[in-house]
Amino acid sequence: MFLNNREKPRELLYYEVLSRRADLTRDEQWRMRNLARGFAGEAEYDRLFDAAGHGRLLIYRDLWMKIDKAVLQVDSLIVTDDTLIVNEIKNYSGNYLYRDGRWFQNGRPGGEDPLAQVSRTAGKLVRMAFHLPYRVAVEKKVVFVNPNLDLEVGSDDAAQFAVGRPKLMRYFSDLNQMYAGAAAYKNANALRKFFIDDPMPLPVTDVRRLRAGNYCYGCGSYELEHSRYTAICSQCNYEETLERLVVRALIDFTILFPKEKMTKAKMISFTDNQIHEKLLRKALVKYCSKTGSSRSTSYIVKNRDLHQLLKNNGYSSKYEKDIVFKLGENAVGGSF
Ligand SMILES: [Zn+2]
Repeated sequence: MFLNNREKPRELLYYEVLSRRADLTRDEQWRMRNLARGFAGEAEYDRLFDAAGHGRLLIYRDLWMKIDKAVLQVDSLIVTDDTLIVNEIKNYSGNYLYRDGRWFQNGRPGGEDPLAQVSRTAGKLVRMAFHLPYRVAVEKKVVFVNPNLDLEVGSDDAAQFAVGRPKLMRYFSDLNQMYAGAAAYKNANALRKFFIDDPMPLPVTDVRRLRAGNYCYGCGSYELEHSRYTAICSQCNYEETLERLVVRALIDFTILFPKEKMTKAKMISFTDNQIHEKLLRKALVKYCSKTGSSRSTSYIVKNRDLHQLLKNNGYSSKYEKDIVFKLGENAVGGSF
């Protein structure tokens, strides 16, 4: 069973918000596409593992760990009574060939080396395993989830550490034959002291490139007609409650400026004076925690996930017309 949720990477979230409010550079577009592809691959891995069954296993997903001074990222860590298995998940498509220690992508050499990557991670886990209450072996696999990948691993040595999509369900079923009992539970618990928050710094946002105002939840257009309780998009007619619109702006600000103090004055200019001050103040009080004294009050949004934030803080859906949005409320998981 999965012990924690897999959340969208912070950096992907950042570029998604930035792309709503600024034109991304080519590098940023490339980075966003790459992160989105990686995350889609991880979601596919989870979906297939769910389908194959993993009730007998303990699985951590999407971890950052600190072991001695080394920091490592682990896509999936499977804990059984006598083994720790690390899976590096790749969503490559096209032609990949591994020969004589080198990767060739569509005939061209270079790119990252997932086998070397998973070996480094496994090496660090071996060192860490000495600190666990029960002795375990460490195994490693690179898991290629994309069905549109033509993978050829030329050496048998390397091939044993790679699982392509055609053999993936079999691999998962074999894993689920392993056993996670008391030793696995104790080890899984002991692992937690090596977990850290995602340490990667986000890019710093240049406020001058941002478009102030509010955009349509449906199509992204800034052409909105505000009425008393809702805003209607002139492009696609999507109607959104002003309360939800403001809450999205609070989340956007938090994601774009994680180190800045959010104040009412900043939110007024961020939303280009389009929101009545009273409504803004109400939303800040309702969806944020307050810090600072009365002269320098700032706010911290209680959750960065829109559905969770609305749901946990008494969002009134009297004017909510979007049925799909309402249905999506339960589609998002919290953190562990
Ligand atoms: Zn629209």
